[in-house]
Amino acid sequence: MDTSTFDYVIVGAGSAGCVLANRLSASGRHSVLLLEAGPEDKYFWIHIPIGYGKTMFHPVYNWGFYSEPDPGMHGRRVYQPRGRGLGGSSSINGLIYIRGQHEDYDRWAGYGNRGWSWRDVLPYFIRLEHNTRGAGEFHGDAGPLWCSDIEDRHELMDAIIDGAQELGVPRNDDFNGARQEGVGYYQLFTRHGWRCSAADAYLKPARKRANLAVETGALASRVLFDGRRASGVEFAQRGVTRKAHARREVIVAAGAFQSPQLLQLSGVGPGQRLRALGLPVVHDLPAVGENLQDHVQFRLMYKVSRPITTNDQLRTWHGRLSMGLKWMLQRRGPLAIGINQGGLFTRVLPESRTPDIQFHFGTLSADAAGAKPHPWPGCTFSVCQLRPQSRGRVELRSTRMQDAPAIVSNYLSTEGDQRCAVAGIRFARQLAATAALKPYLVEEYRPGAVARTDHDLLEFAREHGQTIFHPAGTCRMGADEAAVVDERLRVRGVGGLRVVDCSVMPDLVSGNTNAPVMMIAEKASDMILEDGARL
Ligand SMILES: Cc1cc2nc3c(=O)[nH]c(=O)nc-3n(C[C@H](O)[C@H](O)[C@H](O)COP(=O)(O)OP(=O)(O)OC[C@H]3O[C@@H](n4cnc5c(N)ncnc54)[C@H](O)[C@@H]3O)c2cc1C
Repeated sequence: MDTSTFDYVIVGAGSAGCVLANRLSASGRHSVLLLEAGPEDKYFWIHIPIGYGKTMFHPVYNWGFYSEPDPGMHGRRVYQPRGRGLGGSSSINGLIYIRGQHEDYDRWAGYGNRGWSWRDVLPYFIRLEHNTRGAGEFHGDAGPLWCSDIEDRHELMDAIIDGAQELGVPRNDDFNGARQEGVGYYQLFTRHGWRCSAADAYLKPARKRANLAVETGALASRVLFDGRRASGVEFAQRGVTRKAHARREVIVAAGAFQSPQLLQLSGVGPGQRLRALGLPVVHDLPAVGENLQDHVQFRLMYKVSRPITTNDQLRTWHGRLSMGLKWMLQRRGPLAIGINQGGLFTRVLPESRTPDIQFHFGTLSADAAGAKPHPWPGCTFSVCQLRPQSRGRVELRSTRMQDAPAIVSNYLSTEGDQRCAVAGIRFARQLAATAALKPYLVEEYRPGAVARTDHDLLEFAREHGQTIFHPAGTCRMGADEAAVVDERLRVRGVGGLRVVDCSVMPDLVSGNTNAPVMMIAEKASDMILEDGARL
């Protein structure tokens, strides 16, 4: 294989990039180069579900971005973890398998994006899945991505499910089936107790192919253009600047922060701002980096009446030993679960026709995600609004890809988002007060009894709200001329260039984003191969 010219050059080996590398190289007819800025995924804790806590602030496997000071969050800079290395964020995420609501995709199609309705995308969700429950109307068992049930039930999670039913929330044993609304245990991206990242599922089986080259430690610094057609990628690897040429296409899959950053550095973005930074403009596309959306979580924490929580197991050496043994002997227990066991989707605003909030329940509590657990029995109800109206943006801070972009998060900047946050927190309190949970929850640690009015609860949200790690929308797909990519994910105004990752979502799906991104990449791989066949 020519080591500097390929049919396809993919930037970023994250959730989307790994899917693309596998599917585009599968026939053996096309040469593919996958560039990843981070290292191989050799760190042990990536592969153990509970290792989430170890990678949350890891200086190598996590980009560890921060937003700009956000007025909606009392001027705080909000921590923005992003995976770095093979698997990208799928190597450090919370492993929760949620597709979103059918209506999310019908809404995307309603914006004019043909081929993206629920009916259109369901076959791709099925294609990517190896669901341990087997195949059915909504599920597949022949795909590369393992989705497994949590085998250990926890009495506290069972009580939460009972409590939610007291409030009229139906039990739901499959959030990815006919309807999302309800309460139940999650399925996780695990295979026999190990994390199943996009790299595990898609890249590892493809790496033996002679037509796929994977370069790690390779930071793409710009997309190269021949006139208005993308012709390759310039990247920095071990202090050397290299170029890879693309005969067919360059595909940017660097995630919701870095895909718009790379496009802008390559001259595709808001022309005036790029010129002001001294960058040559290939195509003036003001929407690049705009439309940033994210899910914000508000974590209510409770002290639990008995030492039955993961806090208690992690606190003592014999607790840790028994967790370790359970994982080693049976691949079960807290090490195989990660952080959140179950979830709840419901409506808290009168105008919502489908669930507008999601709860993540963890039998663990800590002052921040990934921080040391509290020294008492504790649990967390994390509340997040599913379809935020607030919009932020990603801007260049410098002309170097090595520097973090400016992330303007703009959380809680609309009245609707503020109302939903307060209503969600109130719903959490109602749940905590149910008969099923009374014997378990002895005290609300945070926000605590002093927070009573709507104003108090909104202040709590602003003071303690965090991202739940789903930034999206910064290279928006749309039928309108202002959109960054069209419905086939081709960048408007130039040739030979696509974006395929979380950034193309027109707006956020109502749930966690990993499976939706992998679905997008599955569908994109078909479109790329179809368009290639027409050349
Ligand atoms: C801490 C955390 C917890 C999460 N929990 C869940 C969860 O439980 N369930 C769920 O569904 N979703 C979860 N998510 C979200 C989900 O993982 C992401 O939405 C998804 O992985 C994004 O995929 P992506 O392909 O868009 O980007 P990523 O997977 O982030 O991939 C981008 C890749 O590009 C690389 N890259 C960036 N710039 C360059 C460059 N210039 N050159 C070369 N390479 C580059 C990066 O290193 C990275 O590997 C979580 C995310 C995080 C961070």
